[in-house]
Order: sequence, then structure tokens, then C-alpha cells
Amino acid sequence: MTGIEIVNLNKRWATFDAVKDVNFTVEPGTLTVLLGPSGCGKSTTLRLIAGLDTVTSGTIRIGGRDVTDAPPARRDLAMVFQSYALFPHLSVEENIVFGLKVRRVPADERRRRLNRAVEILGLGPYLGRKPSQLSGGQQQRVALGRAIVAEAPICLMDEPLSNLDAQLRHDMRREIRNIQRALGMTMVYVTHDQIEAMSLADQVILMKAGHIEQKATPEELYLKPATTFAARFIGTPPMNLVGLADGAGGAVVKGTAARMFEGRGEGLLMGLRPEQIRVGEEGMLPVIVRNVEYHGADSILECEAGEENITVRVDGVRPIAVGSRLSLSWEPEAMHVFDRESGFVQP
Ligand code: ATP
Repeated sequence: MTGIEIVNLNKRWATFDAVKDVNFTVEPGTLTVLLGPSGCGKSTTLRLIAGLDTVTSGTIRIGGRDVTDAPPARRDLAMVFQSYALFPHLSVEENIVFGLKVRRVPADERRRRLNRAVEILGLGPYLGRKPSQLSGGQQQRVALGRAIVAEAPICLMDEPLSNLDAQLRHDMRREIRNIQRALGMTMVYVTHDQIEAMSLADQVILMKAGHIEQKATPEELYLKPATTFAARFIGTPPMNLVGLADGAGGAVVKGTAARMFEGRGEGLLMGLRPEQIRVGEEGMLPVIVRNVEYHGADSILECEAGEENITVRVDGVRPIAVGSRLSLSWEPEAMHVFDRESGFVQP
């Protein structure tokens, strides 16, 4: 099995640094997701790994071999991109096995791999069609089929599910994970969708403006965000960042006398996930409910505490009236403290 090492990677377009000092390792047989908002440099990073763009500086190793200057064909990888680049004059079947023919894979082996890919992707009814006779989602599945039959040790995917509807995206996500595990593939997967990242990844590389904001397992990213950016990027609704101030005997929520902990509060933000807050009569932070949104399985409360607003998610449909006075509480480990200026989590 083959791993990937990225060392001090930089990519500059004219005067713009698209990728800045990026370092990470993808262990053999694992799936790493590059996650971040549009323009953060995740696609550029993937294209550098693929060899489709040249690095400004840094080193890329695949299977221990320095491939920084190697052409794409010498990197032994399969790729699936958002624009699936199918051959318009070839049928679905021909598109899927094209690469295998080029590499002179014997016919019976081609047939075996084709059948498996077609079964996984549900492409049976479309094998004879041309790409122009397929929906966007079907074309995307053909592109996935090409990557599956390649059985390359490394597979790079850039938003491969972007054109599928929600149900199919969910199913395909699971299939990609199953295939990756079953074949022991090393995979790097680009997405801006936090749910996709959290459900697929062994490791998430969260990027912002060309640099790595946090490198972690999905669990760590959720439970121990390193910065306010990471805290807000993962989770729906996003984590509350509540302004603190210096108060009598410790840090208080701005505009209240509710003491959160000993020591200074000025310049700090308290992070609390909406789903980790309990509501009741007696708690740590008295609030007034300003809005209630019923969702069925849960409800979202918008609460006011002094100068701060706090979103709370409660299970089920609970009859909580706008204007109610409640008190919020949470487990100690649910509270995160960040520096307001730098955004870094405080020890
Ligand atoms: P998206 O999800 O929108 O694709 P991304 O995180 O994948 O975003 P990149 O495509 O890696 O972002 O782009 C990173 C930055 O580099 C962007 O600001 C983009 O405009 C810039 N960029 C990308 N390719 C080029 C290029 N060929 N020339 C100049 N600038 C580029």
C-alpha cells in the first residue's frame, strides 16, 4: 500500500499565494479529506499532488518516492473531478474501460472490473449510451466508474458528488467509503461540505486562505476545534461564540453577572455547541428566549443573555414560548475558550 507525504508545499499564482506551507501525511489505505470554503486552496493542493500543476516549492512523495517533478502518468493514481471529462463519442462501457485498454489489461480482467464497477454504481441500464444521453449525475457515476476500474493504489477526488441529488449523494458517499476500504486505496478527497468530510474521512485537513487551519480526525475536529474558524466551520447550527468580560470574581458573559470561570474574561470568547446546551429552570446562564423554530425532530431556540445571543438546539417539539425565561447549562468539556483576537483556543 502507498502513502502520500506533502512537505512545505507552496503554490503562487503571479502575486497570489494559493497554497502556503502545507504539510500533511496520508497513511496508506486511509482517506484524507481536504475541507474548506471556496478559494481556500484545496483543489490547487489536489492538482499539485496529481501533477496537473507545478509546485512553487516543496516536496511531494508517493510511496516514499519523490514525485514532485514527475508527470501525472508516472504517479500511479486515478482521479475523479467535478467536470468528469468523458469521451463524447464513446459509450458508457467504453468510457469506463478506456484506460484499461490503453494499459493493455486483458479482456477477461477488464470484464471483471467493469462488472463490479457497474454493479456498485448501478450503471447497468446505461452501458450502451453516449455521455450526451445521460443526466449529470449519471455522467458523474461513469467518471467514478473509471476510477474504480483503474484499481490504482491512490485515488484523488475533487467534489465528485457535486451534481448528484441528496439521496444519491448519500448512497454514493457510502459506496466510495466501502470501495476505498475494500481495495485498501489511499484517497484524497476535496469537498467544501462539512457533512461529507465528517462522514468520509479518517483525517480532515481544514484549510483557510491557503494554509492548514487544523489537521485532525473528524471526532477531534468536532470536540477540540483549534480555532474559532474550525469551531464555526463544523456543526449545524454552528458553535456559539459568546463574548466574555471581566466581572466580579471572574469571567462573565458580556452584559450579565453570570460568572463562567475564574480569571479574566475580557478579550475571550466562550464556544458552546447548540446541541450541547441544556435548558431548564436552574443553570449557569439565565436567558430570555427571543425566537423558536420548530423542525420536528428538534427545535432551535434563539436566546439572549445580556449583550450576547446564544443558539440552542433542543430535542423534540417542546412547548417553549417566545419570551420565556430559562437557564442554560452544559458539561465542563462542552465549553471552549478562544482568544478573540487570534482565534486560537486557550489552554
Ligand atoms: P473551490 O471550492 O471554489 O474550487 P478551492 O478551495 O478548491 O475552491 P482553489 O481552486 O484551490 O480553491 O483556488 C485557490 C485560489 O487560487 C483561488 O483564489 C483561485 O482564484 C486561485 N487560482 C486557482 N487557479 C489559478 C490559476 N490558474 N491562476 C490564478 N489563480 C488561480
